[in-house]
Amino acid sequence: MTAPPTVEIVGGVEVPTGLFIGGQWIPGERTLDVRDPAADRRLSGVADAGVTDALDAVSAAHAAFGPWASAALRTRAEILRRAFEIMTAELDECARLIVLENGKSWADARGEAAYAAEFFRWFSEEACRVPGDFRMAPAGDKTIVVDHRPVGVAYLITPWNFPAAMATRKLAPALAAGCTAVLKPAGETPLTALWVARVLQRAGVPDGVVNVIATSRPGPVSELVLADRRVGALSFTGSTPVGKILLGQTARRALPSSMELGGNAPLLVLEGADVQDAVAGAMVAKMRNGGSACTAANRFYVHESLVTEFADAFEKALSTLSIGSGLDPANDLGALVSVRERDKVLDLVRRAEQEGGRPSASGTAPTTGAFLSPYVVRGVRHGQTLTREEIFGPVAPIVTVDSTDQAIAMANDTDYGLISYVFAKDRAEGISVARRLESAMVAVNRGVASDPAAPFGGMKESGLGREGGFAGIHEFLETQYIAVDL
Ligand code: NAD
Repeated sequence: MTAPPTVEIVGGVEVPTGLFIGGQWIPGERTLDVRDPAADRRLSGVADAGVTDALDAVSAAHAAFGPWASAALRTRAEILRRAFEIMTAELDECARLIVLENGKSWADARGEAAYAAEFFRWFSEEACRVPGDFRMAPAGDKTIVVDHRPVGVAYLITPWNFPAAMATRKLAPALAAGCTAVLKPAGETPLTALWVARVLQRAGVPDGVVNVIATSRPGPVSELVLADRRVGALSFTGSTPVGKILLGQTARRALPSSMELGGNAPLLVLEGADVQDAVAGAMVAKMRNGGSACTAANRFYVHESLVTEFADAFEKALSTLSIGSGLDPANDLGALVSVRERDKVLDLVRRAEQEGGRPSASGTAPTTGAFLSPYVVRGVRHGQTLTREEIFGPVAPIVTVDSTDQAIAMANDTDYGLISYVFAKDRAEGISVARRLESAMVAVNRGVASDPAAPFGGMKESGLGREGGFAGIHEFLETQYIAVDL
């Protein structure tokens, strides 16, 4: 194990800032600046990978593949388990880095770090549990043997909104399956990914099994990596437009591709629902991560009998949030990832107003840094901008509906199909409505669904494939059938 020569202390946390290739921490020729959105200033710099570095990372991952793929399942499981234990013991460090480079609140960052560590635990357990198949063919002429093999080098691309969890949600199943990995984190949040890679190194991951290349040139770097025959799969989490560009590239090689893309989550408050429960759920579904989540409730369809009560209570709850730096655990709402991202969200609020919506802000946001007060926007009509665009910030457009059928029709009227939230009078109604929703995940009478033990993914343009649960490891496995003569 080589100690990183390129270490920086960022916010009191020791973090490697080099490229991580073949078990070595390598200073890059160029530097990628990392900013602190809460202070709106430079935080640190990491090595900025170019195309040669990316190909070096692929070579290292390719060289490490054979031994890792044939390592005992238990060996891989135990390394992942150690990674879980190290990370769990150091959650505060991870959370600090997340806050510093992403801006979110302390509770959200700590929650993310714990959720991220859980993927190591879950897939340490799954590593030994992939069933095969051995049986007689119905015609009685042969034996059917079905087994699974790792796809090879996995290229993993992650977004900035969950810099730890999106990395572990891919790394853990890839490693459990016997794949080696090249991880390309988002340029805004590379520090957390490098810290996670160091955890894996300390847990005993052999050199070359995990490689990390942060880069300011994701387009050319990724195109080259995906064209390389040594790469066996792509797993991408990010926006739908970038996902489609990448699918175009992977199509050239018919490369297995898992896509976790954008969302436009509806939250339904149906006639007879408990308004206080719906508001509590909405606070989580909308405000977790300051609204910068693919799973964030993006549009609220509320029955006309409850709409005023719901909007008033939601606004009241939002007004109690204190807004400020995530380094202070007393703050409930942190900064968005950048001033640019904040301005994009504000622009959506302005457009909603031009379209006849009535935005009202709650709480007081600091004036420096990428902070934004939460908004409830009343009087929005289905089809207007806020119900179509992924907002990615603390803005809640409220649409009045006159029936459950209308709420479902509007909820399904989108190209996305990631998650929906349903607040119904009881579980039975919630489940029956869930079955009519075109979304891969539905949370009934609760504001969060994500769980490492459950399949996460999207229908329609929200993605292909599933992460987590029993399905997650299969994104990194090929099925092989061997016909054996009797
Ligand atoms: P993004 O698509 O801009 O970037 C995602 C990643 O792709 C980053 O690492 C980025 O550097 C890289 N990238 C950008 N252009 C690229 C290109 N041409 N070729 C290769 N890689 C490229 O998304 P973002 O702004 O970082 O994240 C927000 C988006 O991610 C939202 O749309 C959100 O819904 C989505 N998201 C989805 C999930 C999910 O699980 N479905 C989870 C989190 C975020």
